[in-house]
Amino acid sequence: MLPKNRKKPIYEGKAKSLYEGPEPGTLIQHFKDDATAFNNAKKGTITGKGVINNRISEFLFTRLGDIGIPTHFIKNLNMREQLVRHLEIIPLEVVVRNIAAGSLSKRVGVPDGTILLSPIIEFYYKDDKLGDPLVNEDHIINFGWASAEELDILRSLAQRINDFLSGLFIGSKLKLVDFKMEFGRYTMEEQGIMQIMLADEISPDTCRLWDYDTNEKMDKDRFRQNLGGEAEAYQEVAKRLGLIINPNEAK
Ligand code: ADP
Ligand code: UDP
Repeated sequence: MLPKNRKKPIYEGKAKSLYEGPEPGTLIQHFKDDATAFNNAKKGTITGKGVINNRISEFLFTRLGDIGIPTHFIKNLNMREQLVRHLEIIPLEVVVRNIAAGSLSKRVGVPDGTILLSPIIEFYYKDDKLGDPLVNEDHIINFGWASAEELDILRSLAQRINDFLSGLFIGSKLKLVDFKMEFGRYTMEEQGIMQIMLADEISPDTCRLWDYDTNEKMDKDRFRQNLGGEAEAYQEVAKRLGLIINPNEAK
């Protein structure tokens, strides 16, 4: 529930809204129940999704912070909101894949579920009008979306995050098939230092998570593919991570 005197969002996204934070350089990230897929062609809501994703993302960002990954997360504010650092977002979606699925399977004709020899990192240019096209490192450097040095950092962070999260999810009987990350630049004016931090969210909206024993889909593919039971699947992921969320509160 939004506080009554809350200002208009400074950014209204598909799954989240961003509000000015209480201090300069901070933002409030508000998680909505709205769901979209296929570049906005399919729209709907998943009851309680915002509450669950807020909690799951808080948990994962905190664990990643514990192992030394710089993240935008500052603190949880309420059921749907978290305080984060305001970053200059690098306009790339960084996807790591452990098992072939989704657009990779379609693009190269590899059956869904094929275990990859080693994780694959892909970059997509964040532009809804263009449908977030797949790009390579030459494109990224040429068009100035990130420097060669920044790309090295993104790759190394992506690998560390994938290694850590794959293990964490196995401990909850889930396979991390693939997932998407966003990163941004945080400038500490006084020290004159710029640091790349993990931004946005990591949740069943941005990961493919399959049950370890049955390969049942426990993520947004349930919505994309009209499988039903998406709210229950998100709830189950939270439960397996040890995050008990009262289903009535999640509404
Ligand atoms: P979309 O923009 O694709 O509709 P969302 O609804 O998830 O996606 O909106 C969240 C937006 O907030 C994204 O555009 C994301 O890049 C941006 N964002 C996430 N974290 C930060 C941050 N720490 N600082 C600034 N922008 C952020
Ligand atoms: N993904 C995401 N946002 C996007 C595109 C992809 O969070 O705008 C996630 C998606 O949930 C999956 C991974 O990135 O975990 C790889 O998605 P893929 O390229 O297979 O695209 P999709 O099948 O979703 O079109």
